[in-house]
Amino acid sequence: MKNVIVAGSGAGGAAVARELAFSGINVTLLEKGSSILTGNAHLCYDNIDASVELLKTTCLGGTTLVTAGNAVRTCQDELESLGVHLENEFQELEDELNVSPLPDSHFGEGTLKIMDAASSVGLSMDKMPKFINPRECIPCGKCSFGCPRNAKWSSLNYLDEARNFGVEIIENSPVTRIVTTDGDISGVKSHDQKYTADLVILCAGAVETPRLLCAAGLAAGEQLFVDTFVTVGGVLNDINFHKEVAMNALYEGDGFILSPHYSSLINSRMIKSGFHEKDILGMMVKIKDEASGCVKDKKVIKNNTSHDVGLIAEGSSLAGAVLTEAGVDPSSLVSTPARGAHPGGTAAIGEVVDNNLETEINGLFVCDASVLPSAPGAPPVLTILALAKRLGQYLNTI
Ligand SMILES: Cc1cc2nc3c(=O)[nH]c(=O)nc-3n(C[C@H](O)[C@H](O)[C@H](O)COP(=O)(O)OP(=O)(O)OC[C@H]3O[C@@H](n4cnc5c(N)ncnc54)[C@H](O)[C@@H]3O)c2cc1C
Repeated sequence: MKNVIVAGSGAGGAAVARELAFSGINVTLLEKGSSILTGNAHLCYDNIDASVELLKTTCLGGTTLVTAGNAVRTCQDELESLGVHLENEFQELEDELNVSPLPDSHFGEGTLKIMDAASSVGLSMDKMPKFINPRECIPCGKCSFGCPRNAKWSSLNYLDEARNFGVEIIENSPVTRIVTTDGDISGVKSHDQKYTADLVILCAGAVETPRLLCAAGLAAGEQLFVDTFVTVGGVLNDINFHKEVAMNALYEGDGFILSPHYSSLINSRMIKSGFHEKDILGMMVKIKDEASGCVKDKKVIKNNTSHDVGLIAEGSSLAGAVLTEAGVDPSSLVSTPARGAHPGGTAAIGEVVDNNLETEINGLFVCDASVLPSAPGAPPVLTILALAKRLGQYLNTI
């Protein structure tokens, strides 16, 4: 029977470990971080200043603990053109995770005002599909801090199932080196500890995975994208938008999306003072950025290109128009700095891995946001889960 090491327990790692465990394969999952209460996930952010600030967390469950619960298909056509067909996997996931928009009871006044205003200025905004259980969710605006009520799907759900099917999960154990024998994979090292394996699947995220690949002699770490975003916001007194479900609606533009979004960074950038979080209404502008960044051994570089700046400007002007129509004082509108919550592309399919996600090292696979071929410009977790399902099924056949 095959022995498999999975490195990382975020979207890709938890999903592929669970899939393999269902097939009775021996899996050991090594995770750099430790387990925490979901409500404390905000303590595990280890953001990177790469010019554009990159957001990610290091803990059991990875960055899935701080998602807004958005569950959309991304990159499907592009992956299709690369020979990666995910229709069945997407359908299975949407059923398993009960993906659907939240009921009306979970839409607050701020979101509804934005949706109405968008429609008035000619933009059609739909309810966002979510993997949030409405019976457990009491809107509190804390999605990206870590859900205090466990109402949102995260990799922890999959890790529980994986553990029940025999996966050994070892926390506080970063993979520090890939080990090969005669050019084939033979295991990994976590500091001084060696773990032997027939197959290794790197799922350490789009920053750490390429570093491990480069240290093993593979060319990875180029073509970093991050789905750069800003939040535009201003004053609408007593709207209490900060307590609503984040990103509960979606407008899809050409190369960017708009979504209702509160950011505490808005307050600190207001020119007029005396306003509180309860008085801010905001929208996220998230773009499909160019894959112009890179991950090096000690640093990450991600600058905005003129293409990116153009898209951010276009989306921000629309967001400003919608917010003004919704009742925000236009003289109060400000924007956060550019940030990125979806780093990916650093071990892209067709570049660093083949369409079965295998590298040039026999038996070494990658299954995380690194393999995405280009910026999704929208939430990528569902796509990463679909890729993990497909990889699990493939590994079961070889
Ligand atoms: C605030 C925020 C909100 C978001 N909201 C959404 C959303 O609503 N919907 C959506 O689809 N996406 C969302 N995303 C993006 C999504 O969370 C990520 O794209 C996704 O989690 C990436 O999956 P991954 O497997 O590549 O990496 P991660 O989920 O980050 O997992 C990587 C794991 O590897 C571990 N690790 C790192 N190095 C090592 C090592 N050397 N050895 C072992 N383990 C290691 C990390 O601790 C982590 O557990 C959001 C992101 C942020 C920051």
